[in-house]
Amino acid sequence: MSIGQEVLLLLKEEVTEVEYNRYIKQLTYDIKKSTSDLAVFYAPNTLVSNWIKSKYTQKIAHLFEVKNGSKVTVSISLKDQLDKRKIKKVTEQKAGQSLLNPSHIFDNFMVGGSNQFAYAAVKSVSEKAGELYNPLFIYGGVGLGKTHLMQAAGNVFQNQGKVVIYTTVEQFLNDFIRHVRNKTMERFQEKYRKCDVLLIDDIQFLSNKEGIQEEFFHTFEALKGAGKQIILTADKHPKKIGGLEKRLQSRFEHGLVADIQPPELETKIAIIENKCEINKVTLTKDIINYIATVIESNVREIEGILSKLHAYSQLMHIDIDLQFTKNVLKDQVQENRANLTMDIITKSVSKDLNIKPSEIRSKGRSKNLVYARRIAIYICRELTQNTMPQLAQYFGMKDHTAISHTLKKINELIENDEDFKVKIDELTNKITSNS
Ligand code: ADP
Ligand code: MG
Repeated sequence: MSIGQEVLLLLKEEVTEVEYNRYIKQLTYDIKKSTSDLAVFYAPNTLVSNWIKSKYTQKIAHLFEVKNGSKVTVSISLKDQLDKRKIKKVTEQKAGQSLLNPSHIFDNFMVGGSNQFAYAAVKSVSEKAGELYNPLFIYGGVGLGKTHLMQAAGNVFQNQGKVVIYTTVEQFLNDFIRHVRNKTMERFQEKYRKCDVLLIDDIQFLSNKEGIQEEFFHTFEALKGAGKQIILTADKHPKKIGGLEKRLQSRFEHGLVADIQPPELETKIAIIENKCEINKVTLTKDIINYIATVIESNVREIEGILSKLHAYSQLMHIDIDLQFTKNVLKDQVQENRANLTMDIITKSVSKDLNIKPSEIRSKGRSKNLVYARRIAIYICRELTQNTMPQLAQYFGMKDHTAISHTLKKINELIENDEDFKVKIDELTNKITSNS
């Protein structure tokens, strides 16, 4: 029995039978790809892989350490995609650099206005390594797809047989320190300067680290000079990263700097549909819309939500419907929206429909006012914790029965009037993304 299988059996003792059968048992250990400091497992789908990654990688690493006395990095990859795409074995895949995620490919990346520019830039670089924009610098907020895009190019290059190094600044730094300590700096330099493509994630962590900036500068110059493609990501524009040497900053801006913005509602919907397809989860349009409005901008939350829905429905033997989804996501929604108030919502509705907040809250009965008021009331009810009497007071209505009557009316409209429903979704999305 391989050490990987032994570790999984040890883990069996520590989890429930359901969890073992549903998640742990699905893993397979790749004895060929694993080394003394890297343990490679495959999961059949992202649900299993996410579940394992969020709960068990540390435990698995610990069990390996107990068994063979040295630390290992645990990698969980997707079996299907690895098989299908026959990723060539990377010649040098040691500690200090990570494997590319095989599901981070262009086909799985949904394009919308928010990420179109970055997508086009990375795509064209992937077609002409080193010739177009070098370096390509992508920046944007957390969970907007920077790593995914960068690795999509990496996967293309790797499939062409190129030597691709993907690393975060943190891993680059650790690797550097390790080689300094072992007095093997030539090996470090050879490794990073002899690759065909260098992908470095989260460049902002270079900030104020002078030693590594110096080393990075020379790596950069060597690669660039040899026409090798470099792709970098960061959470902000190079100009805005403080504590960065001027020469590095100017090198970063020298190629092309492309930003990624938070996704619009339609892009979020496309992403959710895509993730459902990959994970073989079926959700109705209503649920997909709901999730798209619940998550703000961080796309990473989508995968978490899908695994959560899947796990709950399996463990509790319940089909996933809208009410179930709302219950499962309740805490998440409240946390995301703790700072939303009726004032903020009314102001946004007012701005969008060009009607004063005071009018929305008045007793006016004109068609436009009633329309705006209904939308505001509905969104306040959905997004805040205010009770019906509080809503009644805020919107100048007689009492909670008046609100309950209005909400009933709105629900009928949502069911029968597609335009009204779209307007509500649109505004809800706008309000939650700005909060
Ligand atoms: P970042 O590096 O910007 O923090 P990631 O690239 O890690 O973000 O993306 C977070 C998650 O969201 C990943 O699972 C990624 O696949 C997914 N994701 C982000 N943007 C998209 C998109 N446009 N289409 C499909 N998946 C996306
Ligand atoms: Mg990232």
